[in-house]
Amino acid sequence: MSVTSLGTVAAAYLIFVIFLCGACVGSFVNCAAMRKVQGEKFAKGRSHCPECGHTLGVRDLFPIVSWLFLRGRCRFCGTRISVRYPVTELVTALAFVAVLVRFGISLWTLQHCLLFAVLLALALIDLDTMELPNILLIFGVILWAVFLPFSASPLKGLIKGGLGALALGGALLIFTLLMDKILKRETMGGGDIKLFAMLGLYCGPAVGLLLVLLSCLFGLVFIRLRSVRGQPFPFGPAIAAAAVPSLLVGPQLVSWYMGLFL
Ligand SMILES: [Zn+2]
Repeated sequence: MSVTSLGTVAAAYLIFVIFLCGACVGSFVNCAAMRKVQGEKFAKGRSHCPECGHTLGVRDLFPIVSWLFLRGRCRFCGTRISVRYPVTELVTALAFVAVLVRFGISLWTLQHCLLFAVLLALALIDLDTMELPNILLIFGVILWAVFLPFSASPLKGLIKGGLGALALGGALLIFTLLMDKILKRETMGGGDIKLFAMLGLYCGPAVGLLLVLLSCLFGLVFIRLRSVRGQPFPFGPAIAAAAVPSLLVGPQLVSWYMGLFL
């Protein structure tokens, strides 16, 4: 059921609810990723300021709003709170709204929101540690498999997804091994290739190609924005960012592009 088929009030309410869900998920994933990076236990008590250790109350933890209200500082010690918190919360909230608009009230909205949460965690962890944890990649594969039987044609979905994973994972593995030989250094991490293969399940081969192109484009932009020259840079955030348009409007983009030539 699409959102537009609802009344205006119901649609606005639903969009507001999923925006709020997205902001909370973004906040949770950000905290979980930070704890993982800092080697803290995942479920170690209540949220606290990393600087002064003060336990945070509800009014410190409300996504986006708290950061704005506190003007980006800890209420207790005045330490700056990274702008990364409200930005990830807002981006996740908007991504969830886009998923709802695209897939309507359906299982696919649930699947893609969960997948986007996994991608956010992967991007944040890669940004800090240059690693993409296998456990999150495996979760992405399981998420695909669990929802597969509910698709219109599970067998077709299985073949398309399998081909996508093989095409993306296989092609990039061969390309990377060749580039490593030619340049005599590691060009792309194994985690990046596994992430492409996992997303290949969702995209299939055609949209998969679009995903690779967009990832390279976003990667170049990210390098320009942040990286110090010569330093290795994480590719995961670029792949995760490219996955959002690829998954939401990939087929439409591909057929529009093909239409230019046919
Ligand atoms: Zn503090």
